[in-house]
Amino acid sequence: MFVDSHCHLSFPELAERIDEIRADMRSAGVDRALCICTTLEEFESVHALALRYDNFWASAGVHPDNEGVREPTLADLVSLAAKPRVVAIGETGLDYYRLNGRSVADMEWQRERFRVHIRAARASGLPLVIHTRSASDDTLAILREEGAGAVTGVFHCFTETEAVARAALDVGFCISFSGILTFKTAEALRDVARMVPLERCLIETDSPYLAPVPYRGKTNSPAYVPFVARQIAALKGVAVEEVARATSANFERLFQLPGHQETDYGKT
Ligand SMILES: [Zn+2]
Ligand SMILES: [Zn+2]
Repeated sequence: MFVDSHCHLSFPELAERIDEIRADMRSAGVDRALCICTTLEEFESVHALALRYDNFWASAGVHPDNEGVREPTLADLVSLAAKPRVVAIGETGLDYYRLNGRSVADMEWQRERFRVHIRAARASGLPLVIHTRSASDDTLAILREEGAGAVTGVFHCFTETEAVARAALDVGFCISFSGILTFKTAEALRDVARMVPLERCLIETDSPYLAPVPYRGKTNSPAYVPFVARQIAALKGVAVEEVARATSANFERLFQLPGHQETDYGKT
């Protein structure tokens, strides 16, 4: 059985066909999913999924790309984190990919928002779901300043270099791979996946976006996460069942889900 560690089932493309998505997940052997929140306004619909279905969980956070939305305070995030079936803070982080004419210096609001999320993770004891794009130096620097050793989490939809992956592993984080790993042009990312130990890997769809090959360009759904697992299995030369088992165990351990056993997986 596979776990989708990052999906947006409250987005309109997916929200209106949850029954069909759940049936597809069942047929594909995907037994659990983490529903990711991107605005405070959206939280209630994300949380409702986790309350309604016992194999869905929810996060609480505001995505770095979201402007013109309610700015979260530490108190907002800590109170959402205390709700049942909320298992992560995020997605949060930094994204300098689309600056829209601004400079990196102008993005202080994003860095401040990220700091608030890290403080919320420390205060609540929940792991962080980190989004980083074209901003890995600042992401890692702020993470070390605010939370080094005191917070854990995952770098989701990883597309950065091997050096960034090593730095993320060094601060104790997991790395989550999406359908991008199956794209023809992603050879450098496949090298990163070869390097990241299976004990620190998660798999995700980030649906509705980034459908893996052979569904590239279509609406993504958690049922497609096995394609990511198969790619990792091929890269590491192991059985797909081993990838399923490891990534599911990592998911349980990271998000402190019932049934998880504390394991000492060390540092690399
Ligand atoms: Zn993201
Ligand atoms: Zn996302």
